[in-house]
Amino acid sequence: MKLYSTNNKENIVDLKTAVVTGLAEDGGLFMPRKIPKMEKEFFENIEKLSFQEIAFEVAKKLLSEDISDKKLKEIINEAINFDAPLVKIEESIYCLELFHGPTLAFKDFGARFMSRLISHFNKKKTVILVATSGDTGSAVAHGFYNVPGVKVVLLYPSLKVSQIQEQQLTTMGGNIQALEIKGNFDDCQHLVKQAFTDPDLNKTLNLSSANSINIARLIPQSFYYFYAYAQIKKITKKPIAISVPSGNFGNLTAGLIAKKMGLPIKKFIAATNANDTFPIFLETGHFKPKDSVKTLSNAMDVGSPSNFVRILELYKSNLDNIRKDIESKSHNDEETLETIREIYQHADYILDPHGAIGYMGIKDFLKNNKKYCGIFLETADPSKFTDIVNKAIEVNPPMPKRLEKCLDKEKESLVLSNQFDDLKSFLSKI
Ligand SMILES: *Cc1c(COP(=O)(O)O)cnc(C)c1O
Repeated sequence: MKLYSTNNKENIVDLKTAVVTGLAEDGGLFMPRKIPKMEKEFFENIEKLSFQEIAFEVAKKLLSEDISDKKLKEIINEAINFDAPLVKIEESIYCLELFHGPTLAFKDFGARFMSRLISHFNKKKTVILVATSGDTGSAVAHGFYNVPGVKVVLLYPSLKVSQIQEQQLTTMGGNIQALEIKGNFDDCQHLVKQAFTDPDLNKTLNLSSANSINIARLIPQSFYYFYAYAQIKKITKKPIAISVPSGNFGNLTAGLIAKKMGLPIKKFIAATNANDTFPIFLETGHFKPKDSVKTLSNAMDVGSPSNFVRILELYKSNLDNIRKDIESKSHNDEETLETIREIYQHADYILDPHGAIGYMGIKDFLKNNKKYCGIFLETADPSKFTDIVNKAIEVNPPMPKRLEKCLDKEKESLVLSNQFDDLKSFLSKI
């Protein structure tokens, strides 16, 4: 696969460079030059394939120039080792559960696949530095857990992550080191940036960033759209709409890539919380990033979605075509709680706040589009947001075993100041 930078079409790199560097030198995001179409026969028989088989076929189509079939199969079988079942909620509305991975959120798909690609391409010992405000850190850490030749250093702001998140970040051991920084998330991000530009450290260490805009995170996210189609194909012949609870719009972009590869999804709904930059863009044609506002669906609190430029690239900035494929609406916190309550009462199903936004997106769409069958993505297990869910239904969602296990473990982290010299001296010794 050849990729270009969204800031300069002439800046072409191979997959290895795009994956290992994450962001183009000119500050742009990498996009595939060509998005190939899957064959007709693939869709005719898709319902007979397993999730891993579907993932392999799609990955092969995209990456066969760069990675041997044997290696790709190995990467897929290790990375995509949990299910993404489609569950009926009510007539014509289905939920695609994306939270069955080790950290209970869909970020596991991207992180697990990306980590294996980085380790495949990087033969030298690599140190992955990640600043995290909570969820991303543990998904990346789990993704790299026990991956040979890689050490992960997580920087998180002391006292500013939830207790469950801190347990997830600090109890892994092995090749994962958590650093508790006496400062806020911005300090953590700043320290990571300083490390990347420090000449001494870069002489001795192979530093990599595993950041959220890495193309290797988007590719595996397209797999579950195909798998969702394989499951719904057995149920209905109606046209399909998928609602994606969106923040940075990586998840939606992956769905649009799947559509470009020929996946017959008729409509996408970009469901947002009060951070409504994208719905306003669709309405007015103007993209005006703003400061993010805090909401109950906090993983979607993004005022300037970084994957927006990728969506523009996919549609060559043609607003009419974007509007043909995507609808978007913003939903507030009150509606979020109300929806969690309603779905619990009527369908006996516990949504998390992000999935609740996804549900509202599809519900609204179907009101005016009755011939469709709808799917929404549930991006996190509700037990990750026990307090909010409890506020809505006065019941605690059951805690999955894998989360319970980490709550019993002793926290292990190294406390550091927010001064770069401290981080530098720590990194020089690993
Ligand atoms: C990251 C995240 C989202 C938003 O996904 P984007 O790809 O950033 O749009 C939604 N829900 C949960 C639980 C997340 O962690």
